[in-house]
Amino acid sequence: MAKIILLVLGVLLAYWILKSYRRRVDRRESQAPAAGPEDMVRCAHCGVHLPRGESLTTQGSFYCSADHERAHRAGERA
Ligand SMILES: [Zn+2]
Repeated sequence: MAKIILLVLGVLLAYWILKSYRRRVDRRESQAPAAGPEDMVRCAHCGVHLPRGESLTTQGSFYCSADHERAHRAGERA
């Protein structure tokens, strides 16, 4: 009888460890900000979408290249 109780306790312990471990993994995944491939910005000049990390940011506007940043700002002035 004591063996059965130990077995049940062992199963419950294993289940509890697994559950708390999975909850920790879930929390870590949900905490990750949207800084993945979904974080896309749009070039203010040609409208192409590109990752934020590859874009140029000037005064709150995003550009795909320095050429487009220059061209867009020149166009605004003209
Ligand atoms: Zn562009």
